[in-house]
Amino acid sequence: MHLSDILTHLGEERANYFNAVAPPIIQTSNFAFPNLKAFRKAFEDEMDAHLYSRGNNPTVKILRQKIAALENAEDALVFGSGSGAIANAVIANVKAGDHIVCVKSPYSWTQHLISNLLARFGVEHTFVDGKDTSAIESAIKDNTTVLYLESPNSATLEIQDLSACADIAKKHNLVSIIDATYASPLYQRPLDLGIDISVQTCSKYLNGHSDIVAGAISSSKAMIRKIFNTEYMTLGGIISAQDAAMIIRGLRTLEIRLERSSESALLIAQRLARHPKIAAVHHPHLPSYPQYELAKKQMKKCGGLFSFYLKAEAIEDVERFFHKLQRFLLAVSWGGHESLLLPYCAFYGIPGREDTTVPWNMIRIYIGLEDPEWLWEDLEQALEVL
Ligand SMILES: *Cc1c(COP(=O)(O)O)cnc(C)c1O
Repeated sequence: MHLSDILTHLGEERANYFNAVAPPIIQTSNFAFPNLKAFRKAFEDEMDAHLYSRGNNPTVKILRQKIAALENAEDALVFGSGSGAIANAVIANVKAGDHIVCVKSPYSWTQHLISNLLARFGVEHTFVDGKDTSAIESAIKDNTTVLYLESPNSATLEIQDLSACADIAKKHNLVSIIDATYASPLYQRPLDLGIDISVQTCSKYLNGHSDIVAGAISSSKAMIRKIFNTEYMTLGGIISAQDAAMIIRGLRTLEIRLERSSESALLIAQRLARHPKIAAVHHPHLPSYPQYELAKKQMKKCGGLFSFYLKAEAIEDVERFFHKLQRFLLAVSWGGHESLLLPYCAFYGIPGREDTTVPWNMIRIYIGLEDPEWLWEDLEQALEVL
């Protein structure tokens, strides 16, 4: 199906609601039945019937269809957060005594899920260097059931060879799961490369306006059915109809937003790479990137997120650089309209928390929808303090 068709029309049955161009927000928990026969029938399949909004809500259903089509998946489920989607995908595929092979330093709450929450229920794990395909295979044990990937990593941008990982998972009968938020389904299609489950954080590009927290799982009909029947319905981490409608609106402009961010980010990455006050730039589509060939092979474009290292002697230098900036916001997250900076020195010296292993002079940068020349002016003047 054409991308324009997915973003503009798919799943929208306008004749059912006065031919309204924007879908209605079906703000209801409950649905009523004309007779007992229809009521009884609805209990046969809560995923399809209009029975109760924890199972199926018509506004959410439109969004599910669009996300599944974007991922080239048979079906999808949407959740109240990206973390919720990740937890549902993983929990659905492990039981006590099983073992997970996961890439090192995944998203922080994924790390917490695997190291702490699932460990409490007797699920073991090994974290491996995802750049090394043979290390992934060597970490597999007799009780391994899940291979968990995150490519690219949203901080250090390391990537995994997804086709090779999918082959390993098939060979050892594992369910492969990827957090594929970085590239969005427009620039990387993990299911087409053989991965079983693709997770997206809709809080980032899919919604795209920094006003919603949500996540999605895309996979085969059988896998989505399995997750729906148990984890989705019991954990109940659903998205509201209101928020689903906001994401449907965000999707209208997904293609042009991503193109703008990708082009601006690549331009700024190239300029930073030539700047004398910059020690290094990590952008998967710069030829200097260590995994450039693989990044080009499995990812069409990179979107707006990359990282760079300042030539700084102390954390105070990083602070002086930040205090000069006017046009970037200092914040976590990314994927919205606004450009952001996340200095990793912010994760140093937090009471009760171990310092990050990411060097303190690394800065993650997200380029949003503003004029890239206007953003570059700001970076250039702030770099002068170093
Ligand atoms: C933001 C993010 C998440 C978590 O998503 P939430 O919607 O905030 O729960 C997970 N993985 C990656 C790569 C992210 O960037």
